[in-house]
Amino acid sequence: MAGKTILMIEDDGNTRRAFAAALASLGHRVLESEGIEVGYHLFQTEKPDLIVLDVGLPDGTGYDFCKKVRAHKTLHATPVIMLTGKGQLDEKKEGFESGADQYLVKPVLPQELLLWAQALMNRLALDKDEGGQLEAGDLTIDPAAHLVKFGDVTIPNLTAKEFDLFYALVKKRPKVLSREWILSTLWRTVAVDNLVDAHMSKLRRKLPQSLADRLQAVPGKGFRYFS
Ligand code: CA
Repeated sequence: MAGKTILMIEDDGNTRRAFAAALASLGHRVLESEGIEVGYHLFQTEKPDLIVLDVGLPDGTGYDFCKKVRAHKTLHATPVIMLTGKGQLDEKKEGFESGADQYLVKPVLPQELLLWAQALMNRLALDKDEGGQLEAGDLTIDPAAHLVKFGDVTIPNLTAKEFDLFYALVKKRPKVLSREWILSTLWRTVAVDNLVDAHMSKLRRKLPQSLADRLQAVPGKGFRYFS
C-alpha cells in the first residue's frame, strides 16, 4: 500500500498539512495544491493514484474539478475523496453526481481519511488483478461483457452493484465477505443501514433458485458463495 502518489487540493493550510503529513507517514508521496488550476496541472502531469479534494476553493469548486477528472480521456477512473464543510452537507448529492467516490464532512480526522484512502486504493488493486473472466463449475462470469452464464442460462439485468457483489463472492469463494468490506472496498460507498442486504435480496431474486441458494448469509459475519 505504500508508495502511492496522492494529490491533495485544499486551500486551508492547516488541514492540508495535517492530511499530507498523515498520508506521508504511510510512505505515500503527497502533492499539495491550494487551488484548481495548479491542481489540474498536477493531475495531468503526475497521474496520481488518488485525489483528496476540498469543495470550496479560491478559483472554483471541487464539484467542477471532479467533473473534469471524470471527463478526462485516460485518467477518468482516478478515485476522488471529496471534503466539505458542515454547511455544505445538503450538497452531498451534488458531490456524488459530480463523480466523487467518497464524501467526507469536516471536521475529518486524519485517521478517517487514511482509512478511506486505503479502501479506495485497495479497490484499484482489486480491479487490476481480479478483472478477468471467472469460471466456477457450471458458472461463468465475464466482467468485460457484464454477463453471467449459469449452464445454458444467461442472467440479464444485473445492476453494477449486484454484478460486482456476485463476482467478488464467487471469486473469493468460500470466503465470507463482510458487509463493511463490501461497502467500503467493493462499492466504495458510505455505510447505509441494510444497503448490502437489500442488494443481496435483489440479486438473489434475479438468479435461478439453485444458483441463488449458493449465496449464503453467515450470521454476524457477512455473505459467501458456497457450492
Ligand atoms: Ca476551502
